[in-house]
Amino acid sequence: MSLDLLVSGGTVVSSQGRRRANVGVADGFVRFVGSDTPAAARTVDASGLLVLPGAVDTHVHLMDPGSTDREDFPTGSAAAAAAGVTTIIEHTHGQPVRTVADLKDKRTYLNGRSAVDFGLAAHAWPGHTDAVADLWANGISFFKLFTCTTHGVPGHDAAALRAHLEATALVGAISLMHCEDESLTAHAEALLRAEQRTDGWLLPQWRNRDAEVVAAAVAAILVRRAGARAVIAHVSHPEVAEYVGRERAAGAHLAAETCPQYLLLREDEVAEHGALRKFTPPARARSAADEAQMWELLRRGVLTHISTDHAPSTRDQKAAGNLWDVHFGLPGLDSTMPLLLDAAARGLLSYEDVVRVYSEAPAQTYGLWPRKGRIAVGADGDLVLVDPQARRVLSDHDVISKAGWTPFAGREVTGAVQRTFVRGTLVSEERRTVEGDSGRFVPGPGAIQGG
Ligand SMILES: [Zn+2]
Repeated sequence: MSLDLLVSGGTVVSSQGRRRANVGVADGFVRFVGSDTPAAARTVDASGLLVLPGAVDTHVHLMDPGSTDREDFPTGSAAAAAAGVTTIIEHTHGQPVRTVADLKDKRTYLNGRSAVDFGLAAHAWPGHTDAVADLWANGISFFKLFTCTTHGVPGHDAAALRAHLEATALVGAISLMHCEDESLTAHAEALLRAEQRTDGWLLPQWRNRDAEVVAAAVAAILVRRAGARAVIAHVSHPEVAEYVGRERAAGAHLAAETCPQYLLLREDEVAEHGALRKFTPPARARSAADEAQMWELLRRGVLTHISTDHAPSTRDQKAAGNLWDVHFGLPGLDSTMPLLLDAAARGLLSYEDVVRVYSEAPAQTYGLWPRKGRIAVGADGDLVLVDPQARRVLSDHDVISKAGWTPFAGREVTGAVQRTFVRGTLVSEERRTVEGDSGRFVPGPGAIQGG
């Protein structure tokens, strides 16, 4: 066995535990995990470091093609690599993939534009269930759908949602569902506009808790009854998570994604910062106890995994226009892994939990397992070297995303990604991009040919 890379002396982490082991990679695959020290073309000393499987971030918007003034693949994927994210699943609302031809065009365009491996999601369109089987067979990762018209994408009412879920159940496809009830958000919007409200408190009143829990409940029931597989996107508060947990216990194949902004940002700062905290659903936590409840649900697996929902705008873009008109969304790829490592350092999660929620569970949910999300012989050599002791203060200055800012600026975090390898290639070191174009398309599990 001749290895290209040996990462020696580190502590390898999985959801099941951690152990000292050397990890060898050849031809892009992990070929050795153990205590021996086989010869390798290159050896990296990981003494004192944790060795994590690359993170798999399954809800990412890089707007490329689409709105490259907000983000693009070279920049967004560099931010991912710097933060230890070695696989992303991307979709862009402004230029959605709706047909196999769209998918092929996007794959061709993205050739050589990504630092990390990437899958692509399609957008489900109400009344167009005829596109489902072909898109799935051509390797999309999931179908994104909205229950409310958002970001210019039309919403699915219950009938359209049921038709879509039945079509996906026939081929085994999975959907990521943005759940806010259209009638409840529209009613709130009409009242708030009639009052000519433009203050930050309009966001939690417009995109209210009732709208989210009602839409999530309807969607969960339909998923179970259709025998479909789905994920509730960006669960913002415990009531939604617990409802989803009950449907799961009743047999629904339903995962629940959440994001750092629902674990670490507060409702009152949405009101205070307005456009710079405009994302939907909004941050709901009102107290440390609310945040603690979300972390507990993540530890217990009721909230199954973490994503960023990376959807950046620059500060200038967030300042252009009133609060109704500016884009929704936050940058997240730069900050999510540092925040999870810090949560582990603070005891909110274990490092094993970090691997579970940001590598293993997303890879398993979207059919990328066992190739992605783990360090084991036969898996891709996606490795992240983490110094669990390193301290740094998150700042706008360090953000690689075109956003150029982070809502978490000023937070001191413990734990830092030192190096990121994608299939054995060093792509990022100390947050500097080393290889910016080695990412490859990863077909979804329905692909008839291997991509
Ligand atoms: Zn999103």
